[in-house]
Amino acid sequence: MKWCSREVKWLLFFVEGSCKSTGNCCESIHISYDYKPIHSLSFFQSILKKDVTMARFSPVFSGHTIRHFDCRCLTEDRRCSDYDSRPVFCRQYPYSVLYSDAVLHQNCGYVIKKRFDLPFFSSVSLKNTMIIFQFNNRISVNNT
Ligand code: SF4
Ligand code: SF4
Repeated sequence: MKWCSREVKWLLFFVEGSCKSTGNCCESIHISYDYKPIHSLSFFQSILKKDVTMARFSPVFSGHTIRHFDCRCLTEDRRCSDYDSRPVFCRQYPYSVLYSDAVLHQNCGYVIKKRFDLPFFSSVSLKNTMIIFQFNNRISVNNT
C-alpha cells in the first residue's frame, strides 16, 4: 500500500513555487532513507555506516522513538553551511513530500497542487490516505 500511495501522489499532485530561504525545512526534519522513515536509532546507525553525509543530523527522541532530526549545518542566519555537499535527502525537498512521509514546511515558498481527483472506484483506504496527505500539506480542495 505504501508504494502504491507514493505512485498515486506523483500522479495526482505536483510542486509549484520557489524557495524563500526561510531555512524551515532544515529543522524538525522528518527523514526517510531508501523510502523508509527513520524512527529507530538502530536504523539511523545502520545508515551512518554507509552514508557519512547523514552524520550532520541529530535525532530528537520521544521515548525510544526518533521524533525528528535537527541539522548541525543550519547557520544562525538560516543558511546551509555545507550546501554544495548537502545530502540527497536535502536536494530532493520539496519533491520528497510526494514519495515519503515528509510534509511541506510552514511558510515554505513551494506549494503542492492537485492535478486531478482519484477515480470514484478507488479503495476507501487510498482515498483516506490522500485526504490525510492533502490535509497535512495544506492542499486546498479547489487548488487555489
Ligand atoms: S544539510 Fe543543509 S540543506 Fe540539509 S538540512 Fe542541513 S542545513 Fe538544511
Ligand atoms: S522551507 Fe521552503 S522556502 Fe524555506 S528554505 Fe526550505 S524550501 Fe526554501
